[in-house]
Amino acid sequence: MTTTLSKPIQLVDLVSLHNRLKPELDAEIEKVISSASFINGQVVGELECALSKYLGIRFAVGCANGTDALQIALMALGIGKGDEVITTPFTFAATVEAILLVGATPRYVDIDERTFNLNAALLPNAITPKTKAIMPVHLYGQAAEIDRITHIACEHGLNVIEDNAQSFGATYKGKKVGTFGRISTTSFFPAKNLGAFGDAGAMFTDDEELFWKLKMIAQHGAKIRYTHEYLGVNSRLDSIQAAVLKVKLNYLDEFNARRRAAADLYDKYLANANLKTPYRDPNGTHIFHQYTLLLNKAGERDELQKFLSANGVPSSVHYPISLNLQKAFKDDAYPKGSLPIAESVAERVLSLPMHTELDEEQIAYIAEKIIEFVGKKS
Ligand SMILES: *Cc1c(COP(=O)(O)O)cnc(C)c1O
Repeated sequence: MTTTLSKPIQLVDLVSLHNRLKPELDAEIEKVISSASFINGQVVGELECALSKYLGIRFAVGCANGTDALQIALMALGIGKGDEVITTPFTFAATVEAILLVGATPRYVDIDERTFNLNAALLPNAITPKTKAIMPVHLYGQAAEIDRITHIACEHGLNVIEDNAQSFGATYKGKKVGTFGRISTTSFFPAKNLGAFGDAGAMFTDDEELFWKLKMIAQHGAKIRYTHEYLGVNSRLDSIQAAVLKVKLNYLDEFNARRRAAADLYDKYLANANLKTPYRDPNGTHIFHQYTLLLNKAGERDELQKFLSANGVPSSVHYPISLNLQKAFKDDAYPKGSLPIAESVAERVLSLPMHTELDEEQIAYIAEKIIEFVGKKS
């Protein structure tokens, strides 16, 4: 039996989500427009307060995007030329860009094939006298082994910066991720679980001195206007973005629950499919920024993607190239084959449509098409 669909499937559906919240969003945006306080308006402070409360951390600082957040975090910790920062090669490019932009050197640790996150067991071997920080990423909506990572960091006197762009609202052992490291960062890129109407980001810390540093670096290194104490950047959070985020933050747990419900349905319909559905670490809650399949063979992924596309199912690859193999970040210490899990997984992952508006009919259809292509487990 082949199913037909009543509405087209989208990879991400922000239009339907925003239509549901339109009256509230319009009212908050209108307030900013009538105040004409577009930079550092009152709503920015209100959002920062709400964000820190939500996460359970003392301080939040809004900034222009998640990439800047990472760079400012590194700058605030004084990390630069001659320093090494340990991270994962299987992440969005921004994580490694930030390290290189401050003049430091990224050192990679391969990933755990089950969670796609940095493999904490390999971490001690990567630490050298030049190591200054560890920058784990909580990928796809699921925590890295963050308690183990912070423990190793503590033993070696290293800072942890959590790149929490994909897991804002996820927990690990009952505690929100983004509260374990010295600093955590997030992104409010529109398609993230908590997305603005453009670029936006934030940084978090429990340390008051660091809070001021982060805040000042994001505003040209000045606390008092035209008095510059640090070398800074211009990375402010726009009031209009803060207004949108303030409304959407109230619904974030609901958004994440909807994503998890969609993931539960995918799991159910794909239970017999000849591939791996996402592993869920029992230590945490997965908020499914992505629902990412792992195919058995390298060549299979691109063919499946074409087959799905021909059947009206969009999909995406996060990420097709392990960062050690990217031309822009080339480093002789990490030739092809040096990070075997990340390199292999990059050729076998496929992310399915994942958002708050998916319904069971669509998920059943997507699963049916996938099984038609990969077959059932033998
Ligand atoms: C999205 C993302 C970023 C960058 O965020 P922007 O707001 O797009 O600059 C950084 N790290 C990870 C893991 C991301 O997914």
